[in-house]
Amino acid sequence: MKKELTIRQKSKIHSALFLGGAAVIVLGCWLSKPLEPHFLVWMGLVPFFGSVVYRLTAIRCPHCGSNMAGCRFLPKCCPDCGKELEETP
Ligand SMILES: [Zn+2]
Repeated sequence: MKKELTIRQKSKIHSALFLGGAAVIVLGCWLSKPLEPHFLVWMGLVPFFGSVVYRLTAIRCPHCGSNMAGCRFLPKCCPDCGKELEETP
């Protein structure tokens, strides 16, 4: 039995993928030789771009389905329908 994640939990998953991916890319750049990207750069790009796709596809208003990709931080209310995003369990 799988429970549907709340928008806050999805947002945390997105942040973890984004920051984790960025950290691996930075580490990879640090280990790279000039003109020869370290394999960690490519390893970091997967979760980094994955987080962008996840944000565009999974983080949506539970009421109207509007996506929050344009918002820097997760808002308290949906910018389209104005309803609270925090679902009650
Ligand atoms: Zn909405």
